[in-house]
Amino acid sequence: GGTPLTGRVAVVTGASSGIGEATAERLAALGADVALLARRADRLAAAVARITERGGNALAVPTDVTDREALARAATAVHDRFGTVDLVFANAGVQLISAIGDLQVSDWETQIDLNIKGVMYTIETFVADLETGAAAGRSADLIVTSSIAATRVLEKFQVYSGTKAYLSHLVRLLRTELGRKNIRVASVEPGMVDTELPNHVTDPDASTLMADLIKQIDVLQSADIAETVAFMAAVPKHVNLTEITILPTQQT
Ligand code: NDP
Repeated sequence: GGTPLTGRVAVVTGASSGIGEATAERLAALGADVALLARRADRLAAAVARITERGGNALAVPTDVTDREALARAATAVHDRFGTVDLVFANAGVQLISAIGDLQVSDWETQIDLNIKGVMYTIETFVADLETGAAAGRSADLIVTSSIAATRVLEKFQVYSGTKAYLSHLVRLLRTELGRKNIRVASVEPGMVDTELPNHVTDPDASTLMADLIKQIDVLQSADIAETVAFMAAVPKHVNLTEITILPTQQT
């Protein structure tokens, strides 16, 4: 309950399922105006309908975040409806793990294009908004979804983990420049969350591994991450929770 995010304008990428969808819903429930970006227009429309039914303000903006021009068009749509963005949750990502010797080069590229370049393009598109908001004295947040894979050494995870290590360190580097400007920069590093993420994995061993983990332990739900992101955005603006690791209690 409560409306600690009233007046905030949020952009959530990867908002058509899983962590992004749950976070968009939570931010809207706390009073933020929320733009939902992802490629599946039908799923975005359904999420926006649910938010609107509960009295929230949301806008579906079908966008492929690996496409800079599409992101620029999305920004125009968000500005027209809600004005300057002051909360960016760069969350869209994909996990396509495989043995290096399998030479799944197109899977390597898909992960680099979305998890790294997609986040950089999202930052390109909205960093001026964050600077404007912060300069006007408002809270401004850039939060990215990294993973515990950023620091763990897991077989077949080399490219995925590499993209997430990039993001976790990017946050530390961006803070040196944006923190001074009163923009908070942060990463969330979840462990196993029950989402559509494993559905995209092509390596059969890897998808079995993830399905087994979901059966064996009480894994995180997307709402757990959403609650955390909302908390990070709602603390007083001189407080920057910079790196938050969230594990299922039983995941070691
Ligand atoms: P989902 O597969 O449910 O969500 C991924 C989201 O990214 C979808 O909304 C998808 O929508 C979107 N997406 C994919 N490609 C693009 C694109 N080119 N442009 C825009 N959006 C895109 O999985 P999660 O919710 O689990 O994943 C969210 C983030 O969480 C990812 O960065 C993932 O790496 C990270 N993560 C997940 C963990 C887990 O255990 N689930 C653990 C740690 C981190 P659409 O297909 O409609 O475009």
